[in-house]
Amino acid sequence: MAWARRPRLGPAVRIGLGLTALVITLLLIIDIVFNVFPNPSVALSAQRARSAEQFALQSIVMLELGQEASIARAVELALASDADITRIRLERKDETAVVDMRAPGLAPTQSRDMRTAYQVPLMTRDGLWGRLTVWHRDSNESQLSIFLNSPLVQLIAGLGIVCFVAFALYLRRVLSHLDPSSVVPERIRQAFDVFSSGIVVVDHSAAILLANERFRMLASAASGEALTGMALHRLPMFAEALSVNREGDPWALAMSTGETLSGARLDIRHADGSLRRLLVNSAPIDDGDGQVRGCLISFEDISSIVDLNEQLERSNAELLRSQRNIEEMNEELTRLATRDALTGAFNSRALFDRFGTLFAEARSQGQPLCCIMLDIDHFKRFNDTHGHATGDEVLRAVTRVIANGLRDRDVLARYGGEEFCIVLPGADLTTALAIAERLREAIELTAGASVRKPTGLRVTASFGVSALNATIGNFELLMHQADEALYASKNAGRNRVTSAAPA
Ligand code: GH3
Ligand code: MG
Ligand code: MG
Repeated sequence: MAWARRPRLGPAVRIGLGLTALVITLLLIIDIVFNVFPNPSVALSAQRARSAEQFALQSIVMLELGQEASIARAVELALASDADITRIRLERKDETAVVDMRAPGLAPTQSRDMRTAYQVPLMTRDGLWGRLTVWHRDSNESQLSIFLNSPLVQLIAGLGIVCFVAFALYLRRVLSHLDPSSVVPERIRQAFDVFSSGIVVVDHSAAILLANERFRMLASAASGEALTGMALHRLPMFAEALSVNREGDPWALAMSTGETLSGARLDIRHADGSLRRLLVNSAPIDDGDGQVRGCLISFEDISSIVDLNEQLERSNAELLRSQRNIEEMNEELTRLATRDALTGAFNSRALFDRFGTLFAEARSQGQPLCCIMLDIDHFKRFNDTHGHATGDEVLRAVTRVIANGLRDRDVLARYGGEEFCIVLPGADLTTALAIAERLREAIELTAGASVRKPTGLRVTASFGVSALNATIGNFELLMHQADEALYASKNAGRNRVTSAAPA
């Protein structure tokens, strides 16, 4: 990976550079405070002034000895011997020049600049004789060389190089003893490589001290050394998984609380592009005095388990969906098998099932049970007069009216063409007769009116009611008794309720 190959300065070189910079800074501070090394341009000025004054003294001596001619020779020699001097002019009080010489090959402008000139008055015994002016090379030309040649710069350069080399060599020796990777003995290192989980030991600042082989594989690091010293959160593998908040890193949490943090999840992007789901356990390491010194962290790659789990969850959801489908289909099938398609009431087969069960329960628990049989009066006439569809409509209307008048546990079944059977668990004969009478009334009053076309139909029904007693051994007998009572109602003129004669 890029970070593993990037050339990095070794710690010895880095610390060596830092120490050297520190020494140089100290040297500069000492120079500023105590002015140990004079400013080179100030020193140059002083030296120029001194030499100009010396030359002036020589000139005065020669003037007093009357050797004016020798002065020209002296000026010539001075120009030839000192490359710094560009022009010397000796003039009388009245500004007439005795000597005015320039260094050869120099532009006149360069030797007129008064900034580089030193003027010395020439005082003989007779008083002011004239003055001597010495021009020098423009210091701008040689500023850099002046600076480079200054003792301070030379000292800094020399000391810097020597210090750096000495520090770097020394630190390399010292650091080999302090190398974090050497903190952990080799055999422990090898023992860690045995684990199938990635294992990392970090110091308190999350810098890696040890990483086992499995972790190196997860981090795609070439070697343990490539990881040693790196901050764990800086590893590219965690670039997406960790937030910018360092305190939120699992190992940071473990170290700040001093307690083992298990089961943290980090989803990392592996170098090969695949998503790896890691289970992270962080155990802080303390120094025995309760001071947390680092952390032992294990990274378990649970990608395959998580993937399998997700697959299983998907299959489960699919299975649940199919199950619900099947249940719905079953319900529909049950409905189709137990209900009459025209009215929605139970069909005769479902009636027999339920009646059988309710009958057995009532018998065993000594609870009352009643049966009502009812038959629509002159039903054939609806068909004959208004057509079969109207007959169907009347059947549905009557079913609605009856269903509205019953409890949930009562059973209503269409038993034959326009004949219905009602089972009333828990109801005694008196109650059942009252219910039958209420239903009869409701049919007479509302069933005809609820048929929209044709309007004004008069619909009535005849009822027979029987009740369970000790002499009745099966539900068929109970039905039969109710049926007989129903025919008694028909014979008595219809639209009425008749109780089965007690046995
Ligand atoms: P009663 O008062 O004596 O019961 O006379 P009724 O006409 O109601 O009796 P009957 O048993 O003679 O007539 C029943 C008729 O019901 C015969 C049959 O055509 C008709 N029927 C049976 N099932 C259906 C059905 O599902 N729809 C329609 N429209 N008519 C039906
Ligand atoms: Mg009938
Ligand atoms: Mg009938």
